[in-house]
Order: sequence, then C-alpha cells, then structure tokens
Amino acid sequence: MQTLPLGRSDLSTSRLAYGCWRIARTGDASADLQTARAALEAALDAGYTLFDHADIYCAGRAEEAFGRAIAEMPGVREKIVIASKCGIRPQGDPLPDAPYRYDFSRDYIVRQCEASLRRLGIERIDCYQLHRPDWLMDAHEVADAFTQLHRAGKARTFGVSNFSPSQLSLLQSAWPQPLVVNQVEISLCQLSTFSDGTLDQCQEKHIVPLAWSPLGGGLLADGATDILQHQRSYRVAELITALDEIAHAHGTTRDVIALAWLLRHPAGIVPIIGSAQPARIRASVKATQIELTREQWYRLLTAARAEPLP
Ligand code: NAP
Repeated sequence: MQTLPLGRSDLSTSRLAYGCWRIARTGDASADLQTARAALEAALDAGYTLFDHADIYCAGRAEEAFGRAIAEMPGVREKIVIASKCGIRPQGDPLPDAPYRYDFSRDYIVRQCEASLRRLGIERIDCYQLHRPDWLMDAHEVADAFTQLHRAGKARTFGVSNFSPSQLSLLQSAWPQPLVVNQVEISLCQLSTFSDGTLDQCQEKHIVPLAWSPLGGGLLADGATDILQHQRSYRVAELITALDEIAHAHGTTRDVIALAWLLRHPAGIVPIIGSAQPARIRASVKATQIELTREQWYRLLTAARAEPLP
C-alpha cells in the first residue's frame, strides 16, 4: 500500500489506517485475542502500518488483545506505527458519582499513557492523541504533560482528535513540536470538516486528517450493526444508489467507492478502517487503486448533501 509522511515527523503511515475500536467486543479474553490476531494478520498482509487505539476502546481490552497479538509476532512492533488516545474519562471514575467527562490535566494524561503502554506491552506510543477537546483545556498544562512523556521516551509524536482548527492552533502555540494528526469524523455522511476549516488547516500545516467512521459506522457499506448515537440520524438511501452506480462502473463495491471518495481529497485524508472482519480489511485496500474523476466525486457530494450546491 502507498504511504504518506505522518505530518511533519519522521514517521509514515499507510494510505489506510486500521482502527482497533471493535476488536475486543466479547469480553472473553481468548475470543478477543482471536479477533485481534485475525484482524492484525489481515491488516499486516494488506500493507496497513498505522494502528489506532484509545484507552477507552472496549474499556482497555482492545489494547490488551492487540498487545498480546503483537507479542506473538516477532519483529512486527518495529514495523508498525501504534497510535493511542486519552482524555475521555468514563462515568464512575474514580468515584461512583463522577460524571462522564473530558480530562486533559497533566497527571491524568501521563497516567493514561503509562496504562496504555502496559496494556499494549510496548515501551513507546508512536502517536499519542487527545481524544476529545476538554472544555477546561489549559494548553500549557497539556504541553507539560507531552514534554514529560516525550522526555521519558513514552510517546514519540502527538496529535489531537475532534479538535476544531482554533483548538488545534491554541495547543500548537504552547507545544513546540508539530502536532501530526487531527482525527475527525469524515465521510459522505459527515461533511463538516470540508467547510469548517479542519481540512484546510491540515493541508496548510501538513497535519494528517485521520478519518474516523469513514463508512458512517457501516451505513455506507453492508449495513451498520453498532453505531454511535448521532449516526442514527444519517440518511443514506440516495447516497447508496449513487455509490452503487459508480461502484458498478469500476467493477467494485460501494464501501470501496466511499473510501476512494475520501482518498481523492488533496489534504491526504487517511481513512481508519474499522471492520473486524479480515476479508473486509483486505478488500478496503482496493480503494487505494481507484482515482475517482472530479465528476464522480461531485456526483457523490451532491447525493450526500440535502440541498444542491450554491
Ligand atoms: P466504519 O468503517 O465507518 O464502520 C465500521 C463498521 O461498519 C463495523 O461495525 C463493520 O462491521 C461495519 N461494516 C459493514 N459493512 C462493512 C464493509 N463492507 N466494510 C467495512 N465495514 C463494514 O468505521 P468505525 O469502526 O466507526 O471507525 C473506524 C475507527 O475510527 C475505529 O476503529 C477507531 O479507531 C476510530 N474512531 C475514532 C473516534 C474518535 O472520536 N476519535 C470515534 C469513532 C471511531 P464488521 O466489523 O462486522 O465488518
């Protein structure tokens, strides 16, 4: 698979990343390990090199299952880029009446990174991201946490997720190294980053836009079994028709065209593939071999918008 530089760092990423959110859903350690192993093998074989995690994915079990799977595969850790995130703090942590919230305090960031390292069984996270903007973010405090992690060799580069351009600029003003990614929801179901300045900023500053839910949680593919609350309002009937027509012309499937649509954008969007099924992980790579025409790209954009272009 083709690669791209990971922002202004000396790392690179495959054109598609693999997202580990859904690999440890059963809660049964040996079943989760089997899923993680099969997903990892398929992804490595297909050329994926960036693997995305978060401390909260399956309450830590996704990192654990992945860590056990790579421990069985000598030499693999050195060949891949491991990303994780922190900053979303679940309800009941640490006291039973604590609400769900965001926490970018220095000690919490450092502690969560160390806990992810233990679960993953590795010494350093290659790209450590802040999961969702903390309303109480003090950019200098975050920069202190990053400095501590970087000096200790626990995190190599840093990025953000779900940040607006101004939030990213604020943090960048306090942190001297270039932020390398902004992981945001981008798909034909969720177009806001095209017009709110996020993709413009990524292109201007050489920040990689990592696209989460690139298939709208599955709505743009063969159907969604488990989607986020806000994705329930996505209406895709017209889009599916347009995707199927273009897929037919390319001799492929609608999910591949939905990914190719993201890859066509000049900001260098890297879709994070979230399927836990090996065949789908492999099939997604077909998107990197298709370049949609400008006409096809706009036909899909028009089908995705509820109103005509001005
Ligand atoms: P997605 O690709 O939009 O959705 C994947 C879901 O669609 C899976 O449940 C999959 O089921 C289903 N699906 C149905 N047909 C499919 C097909 N033909 N090909 C592929 N999948 C198909 O992505 P996502 O899982 O929502 O998100 C991807 C990654 O983004 C996550 O793993 C995580 O790393 C990241 N993420 C980040 C945030 C954030 O706030 N930063 C939020 C959400 C996700 P099967 O598994 O059965 O194939």
